Amino acid sequence: MQSYLKKDTLDIADKEVYDIICDEHKRQTDHLEMIASENFTSPAVMEATGSIFTNKYAEGYPHKRYYGGCTYADKVELLAISRVKQIFGCGYANVQPHSGSQANMAVYAALLDAGDKILGMDLSHGGHLTHGSRPSFSGQNYQAFTYGVEDDGYIDYEKVRYIAQIVKPKIIICGASAYARVIDFAKFKEIAVEVGAVLMADIAHIAGLIAGGVHPTPFGYADVVTTTTHKTLRGPRGGVIMCDDPDIAKKIDSAIFPATQGGPLVHAIAAKAVAFGEILDPLWKDYATNVVANAKTLADVLASRGYDIVSGGTDNHLVLVSFVGTDITGKIADEALENAGITTNKNSVPNDTRSPFVTSGIRIGSAALTTRGMGENEFKQIANSIADILDDVNDTDLQQTIKTRLMDIAKNFPIYEQATQQRSNT
Ligand SMILES: *Cc1c(COP(=O)(O)O)cnc(C)c1O
Repeated sequence: MQSYLKKDTLDIADKEVYDIICDEHKRQTDHLEMIASENFTSPAVMEATGSIFTNKYAEGYPHKRYYGGCTYADKVELLAISRVKQIFGCGYANVQPHSGSQANMAVYAALLDAGDKILGMDLSHGGHLTHGSRPSFSGQNYQAFTYGVEDDGYIDYEKVRYIAQIVKPKIIICGASAYARVIDFAKFKEIAVEVGAVLMADIAHIAGLIAGGVHPTPFGYADVVTTTTHKTLRGPRGGVIMCDDPDIAKKIDSAIFPATQGGPLVHAIAAKAVAFGEILDPLWKDYATNVVANAKTLADVLASRGYDIVSGGTDNHLVLVSFVGTDITGKIADEALENAGITTNKNSVPNDTRSPFVTSGIRIGSAALTTRGMGENEFKQIANSIADILDDVNDTDLQQTIKTRLMDIAKNFPIYEQATQQRSNT
């Protein structure tokens, strides 16, 4: 008999996929990644993601598995849990959610019955699909109500209180995908207590900033906290659920497995452990500080060039630019910037009259380029380039000229040497 295990590295085993990955490597290297929800994981995180744990079934939880051979799966999951608890100072963590959406789904499954009322931020005001939006399970299985931001781009907590008192939701969800200001978890807690609701904080976007101490923490206020691990936390794609209440913790464990997920992605959990290890390094605070400083530079330059920044600036890693009242749409701006090698995304903004496919704004983030090591100088140059492009979105020659200039900047901040890790096959 022969071994059926193919041991060639990807370039030899499957040239077709390998070439696509190489093209993606070139795209990530040459372009300026400014999508606020993206980041660059370290090669160590990728190595763990690509590790042999991908072969392992480990349904259940450490020391309570439905399969044998889980000694090391247990070890790595316990390590990930202990590290994330240390980062956020919480009593319980479930590191098995396959994504942020799965984490949110499990919290609802744990704490709600079908048809219960939930109150979250409106998608078009910066909330997430899973906060009660109609096309999502969260808007279909539950009775979803929303709050939003005011014309000034800020949440008005008195208005949230007013809505919560009328709705009397079972869960209030705070946290957003496109909100540039500090979220006042203490205020949300006050409101939740008044109406007898559970407070859930979804820190998918700002978790890395909280970990770095540059955004207030929801712990001590929120009853349950969810996050992704691949945005500002700079880990593998995935989610985490945290809390301090043992009763909620127990319900969440059952809601992840067996209620909404099967076997955990042990390779992703190993990679989460590696990412959490990086966050426990003293350098993390420095990174988080610079992410915010760079976003502020971006907002300042764009404002000085006459662009309308939603809420007038930023406290975190993202900047929302509004084109309301102008001919520019989010779609046009997004495409013009992409032509110049700057990747952002179109985004709805307050008082937007255009459809979600067009929008009147763009969302720009600083987390990924800060990981590459870019600082004030580079962000000033990039912000001015963005303004130059927006000043005349139809000037495709200018977009090409700027692209060449920006690629020269990008070259000075290398990320990955190779598209794949090229592990030896021993
Ligand atoms: C990104 C995000 C999620 C979902 O994460 P996925 O991993 O894409 O499912 C959930 N909540 C918020 C606020 C987010 O920004």
